[in-house]
Amino acid sequence: MLVSSAQPGEDLVATKPTAANTEVAAGATEAAPSHFIRNIVTEDRRAGKNHGQVHTRFPPEPNGYLHIGHAKSICLNFGLAAEFGGLCNLRFDDTNPSKEEVEYVESIKEDVRWLGFDWGDQEFYASDYFEQLYQFALQLIKSGKAYVCDLDADQMREYRGTLTEPGKNSPYRDRSVDENLDLFQRMRAGEFADGSRTLRAKINMASPNINMRDPVMYRVLRSTHHRTGDRWCIYPTYDFAHGQSDSIEGITHSICTLEFEDHRPLYDWFLDQLNIHHPQQIEFARLNLTYTILSKRKLLLLVKEGHVAGWDDPRMPTIAGIRRRGYTLEAIRNFCERIGVAKRNSTVDIAMLEHCLREDLNKRAPRVMGVLRPLRVVIENYPENQTEELAAVNNPEDPSMGTRKVPFSRVLYIEQDDFREEPPKGYFRLSPGNEVRLRYAYIIKCVEVVKDAANGAVTEVRCTYDPETKSGSSRSSRKVKATIHWVSAAHAIPAVVRLYDHLFTKEDPDDLPEGADWKTNLNPRSLETLPECRLEPYLASATPGSTYQFERIGYFCVDSADSTRDRLTFNRTITLRDTWAKIERGSKKP
Ligand code: ATP
Ligand code: MG
Repeated sequence: MLVSSAQPGEDLVATKPTAANTEVAAGATEAAPSHFIRNIVTEDRRAGKNHGQVHTRFPPEPNGYLHIGHAKSICLNFGLAAEFGGLCNLRFDDTNPSKEEVEYVESIKEDVRWLGFDWGDQEFYASDYFEQLYQFALQLIKSGKAYVCDLDADQMREYRGTLTEPGKNSPYRDRSVDENLDLFQRMRAGEFADGSRTLRAKINMASPNINMRDPVMYRVLRSTHHRTGDRWCIYPTYDFAHGQSDSIEGITHSICTLEFEDHRPLYDWFLDQLNIHHPQQIEFARLNLTYTILSKRKLLLLVKEGHVAGWDDPRMPTIAGIRRRGYTLEAIRNFCERIGVAKRNSTVDIAMLEHCLREDLNKRAPRVMGVLRPLRVVIENYPENQTEELAAVNNPEDPSMGTRKVPFSRVLYIEQDDFREEPPKGYFRLSPGNEVRLRYAYIIKCVEVVKDAANGAVTEVRCTYDPETKSGSSRSSRKVKATIHWVSAAHAIPAVVRLYDHLFTKEDPDDLPEGADWKTNLNPRSLETLPECRLEPYLASATPGSTYQFERIGYFCVDSADSTRDRLTFNRTITLRDTWAKIERGSKKP
């Protein structure tokens, strides 16, 4: 908490608490039927508290894009309100104009809406309450509970004490009510320089809870606010604004993450002194995920320093990033349900999020064939100008998705990886003299290998096909050991495919040698771009944002920003291999 800061008090209260990564757990395995917060709400309703009403809020600070951790909070707050016929407000806690922007407000609204939640006309801003909060501050000054302090940032730190030592009273603590009123009004009027004075709550400098050691309520700060412009040159701290905003909105259950537990006594103190509606604060463990970071501050650095292409880079754990990557809202909401809500910090295995995604995409993504690293195959005994339309199943999981036609002709592309001139033991795909089945088509046999004279690289494979082996025909009973995918060269469409991998190389990105920068754990191979892919012609009509399973390879989503009319760009959403399913199966063994 004791970080250096230009503004007195900023380090104590304007900066919100940061989360502590406590332990790495495997994550929840089964969907929890209920959780402690739902139990509290149910019990409150039974007891007739708040006249049985449930009114929650999701309170982002518009200083960055939302991430998957926020999705947990959104699902919880909007979910409880919906479940109990209550309301959930979307409130922007916009008390720090130097870090907040309209772009963030807009992105937050888009993301909450995309997740399928509707706040109706319940859209609020802490800045709408600036006048009311100012009046609350005057009330506290008048009752001798707040004072204007002239200590600067360094002095204030010095007076605050530490976790083991009590603080010392500020020499300005005993100013008279009249003097405090006069000085505070002049702070508002702009008579004092930025950082020169603060308004502080008069609580207890010896409290074991540092948050109670006369925290700052207001600071002088000349910074244009995205909503109130230059109307104010003093701004309430987050701690002074948050609880009162909840109270003004009539929130019944103020649900927040564990790092605010130590702030609860302070929020209670303000509400009690002001004698206004008192929401019940309930803390839960924030979501942490392996191989990524969930901190807006750090995500902002990745964007600013160009480690990623923006807040919506498909590698980012932001809602905008994973949406662009091809995650579905159903997968995210199902994940949030399954991880449950607990009181103890832990880290969830990212494989579980990926599992929820695969489960959803498996049901709904059409299967197609796409070749990422093409190798030319010529079928010597297939007529030059012939094309056949072969029937292919769109999704074996869902017969209602029907079939489509895939063109087959003499020249094809297969995956470079599906051919080996010298096959290792156990390799059953194409190799000289060996046969494979082409998915939905025929069995082919490699009869010759064409190489680049200069470097010896295989440039083409010559094959023959067996016309008796057409898929689905009554005579196609002959079996071979492997089936591979392909596209017809003359019919295929070109595409750029981006393969994404985890953003960090370490499960815990903060696992670092002493003094090392957390960015050294960034994965240098988190993005590989394949510019010359060939896809079956069915995909020519693929729309931005739609997701397909490329058979045998993974799920891919049409990128909405970088696709052009001539060339689609696909982002690999996720591979097919489900490590979480294996973990789950393993854990179910007796
Ligand atoms: P970050 O720590 O990433 O910077 P924040 O807590 O500062 O996020 P806010 O805009 O204040 O971001 O968050 C809005 C709400 O979302 C808060 O109620 C906060 O507790 C909750 N929240 C933030 N991160 C997580 C998370 N990882 N898991 C669950 N809830 C979260
Ligand atoms: Mg935070």
